[in-house]
Amino acid sequence: MTNIVQSPHKTLRMNAQEVKQSEIGGEKLKEIIERMKTALHGEDDGVAIAAPQIDVALRIFVVSKKVLPKSPEDMVFINPVITKLGKKKESMSEGCLSVRWKYGLVKRATTATVKALNEKGNEFVLSGKGLLAQIFQHETDHLNGVLFIDKATNVEDLPPENKK
Ligand SMILES: [Zn+2]
Repeated sequence: MTNIVQSPHKTLRMNAQEVKQSEIGGEKLKEIIERMKTALHGEDDGVAIAAPQIDVALRIFVVSKKVLPKSPEDMVFINPVITKLGKKKESMSEGCLSVRWKYGLVKRATTATVKALNEKGNEFVLSGKGLLAQIFQHETDHLNGVLFIDKATNVEDLPPENKK
């Protein structure tokens, strides 16, 4: 059972460390990635998770296949860097598995490109728009100790029983 840590847990505020090349493919990292996937799949509304959310201060996030039409599997992003952000920004509704049950509006670029390493240590580049672009920005923020509530406006508390 993997618990997702909740704000104000201190790991959520750390600047996460880069994963060493030599650790990619190793048992320790595989186990961390498995725990991230298990935690993500345990949340009905989960679309992505960053390692600090399971109390591991490493630069890794996982995006659910639910939001990846071209990928049959969840995608793992190790040492991700946003290489391009679209100029156009929109206020997007946002929540977080570590900030239950708040929702707010965050201005995000509508397109974003990320460069990262996969689980085998191979570099790849992926561009996304809309929700995927929003996820790239939200998850990269996690790795820098930033939570969406730092940027959001109109924050509301909407526990599941009150959700419309
Ligand atoms: Zn989050």
